[in-house]
Amino acid sequence: MGEFELIRNYFATAPCALVGAGVALGIGDDCALLAVSPGEQLAVSTDTLVAGVHFADPCEPFLLGQRSLAVAVSDLAAMGATPLAFTLALTLPTVAADWLHAFASGLNTMAQNCGVRLVGGDTTRGPLSLTMTVFGRVPAGLALTRSGAQPGDLLCVGGELGNGAGALPLVLGQRTAEPAIAEPLLAHYWSPQPQLALGLALRGKATSALDISDGLLADCGHIALASGVGLQVERDKLPLSRALVAFLGQQAAEEAALSGGDDYVLAFTLPPLELPHLLADGWPVHVLGRVVCGQGVTLLDADGRDITPVNRGYQHFRETP
Ligand code: ADP
Ligand code: MG
Repeated sequence: MGEFELIRNYFATAPCALVGAGVALGIGDDCALLAVSPGEQLAVSTDTLVAGVHFADPCEPFLLGQRSLAVAVSDLAAMGATPLAFTLALTLPTVAADWLHAFASGLNTMAQNCGVRLVGGDTTRGPLSLTMTVFGRVPAGLALTRSGAQPGDLLCVGGELGNGAGALPLVLGQRTAEPAIAEPLLAHYWSPQPQLALGLALRGKATSALDISDGLLADCGHIALASGVGLQVERDKLPLSRALVAFLGQQAAEEAALSGGDDYVLAFTLPPLELPHLLADGWPVHVLGRVVCGQGVTLLDADGRDITPVNRGYQHFRETP
């Protein structure tokens, strides 16, 4: 099978590649053409996933397709953007029909779940890696950035933390657990649900937002820096799932929530006045702390003591001491 046959068989003819609202021209030309309305801005984000770094190799191709797109679309949720389209740059060591079929089908499932259309890409030979670029639309001036947090705001997250990191020993086959524990953790890891609806609900309300990919403390550090404020996180308010605590124990579950990464849950800052409306509308908002004058992220125990750990999250290229 040649490059063009591969593109046609698995990607250009996938249901998620059909042209529709917002996509004037899809796969097949030199560029795709996206249509945004006057008064809207295009939100763009790229993520690369490398075999052996971001996912175990080999792994289940259906799950890989599903997860890699979810991770990319999560950045649109974090900006309060409505998903529009994505491109896929795929580097493959060999062409295996079964693998491609399963991968494309996982990708298609998540694309339809998120309402995002495949509009192009690139296909090359080499060690397995995927690059996805996602495009979303947002009314001009309403995107949720990292830079607007104000002292006095609440620090919130949109769901449980630590499940993705907690699932890792299961994903890597280092540990096993009974289904009641393993299933919810693995589901979170392989099929994270980008918080798109919450992102839209936070437009015009949250003063800053991002999606947690590298761990709560590390990612909150980005908000603190971009906004020129300090953030206080209260350890006892971390939302932990029952499965995570049963699997790891309380202390390791807290560590997974603070520094583990792979959550793809929104973290945001909110003026206190906005909280009752969001809760009344049923949004999953967990208040974890607050924004203060100063800089950096501080972890506090129940008595208000500073218990900030040294290692805050995952970074590529970080030099080990
Ligand atoms: P070009 O040589 O102009 O870069 P290509 O031959 O690489 O074009 O690709 C042909 C068409 O197929 C383009 O529209 C491109 O966006 C699309 N395409 C290539 N690879 C993929 C892929 N993995 N998934 C979706 N579309 C793809
Ligand atoms: Mg090309």
